Amino acid sequence: MNSNKNSKVLAIDIGGSKLQVGLVDAAGTVLDVSLKMLRGQNYTKELILNNISEAVKELEQRQGLLQPEAIGVSLPGPCNPQRGLMLKNFATGIGPWSFAEDLERMFSVPVYGDNDVNACAVAEKRFGNCKNTSHFMWMTVSTGCGGAFFLNGALYRGANNLAGEIGHIPVEFEHPALCSCGIAGDMEIEGSGYAIGRKYLAETDQPPDPTFGSKEVSEKAREGDKIASLIFYRSGFYIGRLCAMAQNMLNLQKAVIGGGVAVYDFDLLKDGIDDAIKQWVFPLSKEGFSIEKTALGYNAALLGAAALALEH
Ligand SMILES: [Zn+2]
Repeated sequence: MNSNKNSKVLAIDIGGSKLQVGLVDAAGTVLDVSLKMLRGQNYTKELILNNISEAVKELEQRQGLLQPEAIGVSLPGPCNPQRGLMLKNFATGIGPWSFAEDLERMFSVPVYGDNDVNACAVAEKRFGNCKNTSHFMWMTVSTGCGGAFFLNGALYRGANNLAGEIGHIPVEFEHPALCSCGIAGDMEIEGSGYAIGRKYLAETDQPPDPTFGSKEVSEKAREGDKIASLIFYRSGFYIGRLCAMAQNMLNLQKAVIGGGVAVYDFDLLKDGIDDAIKQWVFPLSKEGFSIEKTALGYNAALLGAAALALEH
């Protein structure tokens, strides 16, 4: 798409428990947004499409006819962007799903999509901290963990669009837990928002509770709870360990950390990150390498969807 100042695109961020549809301009300003909760419902592509359709109707009631020039979509699983296909969402079992074909049929405009983490990296490059950065890593620390690499000024996808699965790199070697992917001690099972909640309950001798997550642990840490602070420190240490591995391999300029845990609690993670970087980054590679919180806040994936549409 030849985006000019007046271009408007429809951005669709499909998450595991909610979806957002926003009208976004070329500068990355979200002009209006409609939010739909999917939690507790039978998660199918029909449910997603129906909710998108309802969200668009709500936007049109407020904004008049939307007439976007293109649609961008961020999706909760690995994608083949060239074919407009989401391969598989492991949490919900949906996929393969030809999302571009379905949405083009509904809205009669071009549709561009990618997994949410790649979309976040594209948004950070276009609207955020990395406008002048050619080599960086994006990391999402949320309920789960994921990553994306921007190298030589372009998103690096790998042979089968699976580059950046850093949530499944081992970071804990002494007492590793087993991730649902089959890998022991990886970032997702040891350092994600889910892991932060699980570990706090285990270390304070409380029964498992899937509704207890990083937000609850963060509240405890801010009230002075030492165990809560230590768990955040360790999660930061794992994040730093991953960033150090990436830096020693790729010689990046930045690692940008986003996702709910980082957006709200970067300060609680920071000491752990810094200690790991000090310990494991090759000395010459420390110069000019920084680890930063995303500039895009909690809406990175929605802005990512917009950026995907505006890139074309
Ligand atoms: Zn895993």
